Amino acid sequence: MLCNASGTPFLSVGVTVADLVMRNAQGTYWCRECGHHSSSRRDLCRHIEARHVAGDYRCQFCNKSVTTKYNLQRHVNKNHQDELAAADSSLSRALLNASMHL
Ligand SMILES: [Zn+2]
Ligand SMILES: [Zn+2]
Repeated sequence: MLCNASGTPFLSVGVTVADLVMRNAQGTYWCRECGHHSSSRRDLCRHIEARHVAGDYRCQFCNKSVTTKYNLQRHVNKNHQDELAAADSSLSRALLNASMHL
């Protein structure tokens, strides 16, 4: 049975970042899972961690649990625009107040 409900067709359960980092003869790093290229190993590791490695990430706004950082970002951007904006503006207001008291 093909289960695509999570919307993450490339997610591999149980893999680690190191499993997916490939390096070709030209010294370019690439992702074994989706073919994403990067000249920097660190960037590629970040890509793999965000896109392909299953973990437990929780939404700070509604406590929803998702399996990748990428999904969490997508979830927050889609569902919590207002909260994000409010958090931003209350933070900058707090900073503004703090600087006015100096
Ligand atoms: Zn990839
Ligand atoms: Zn949420």
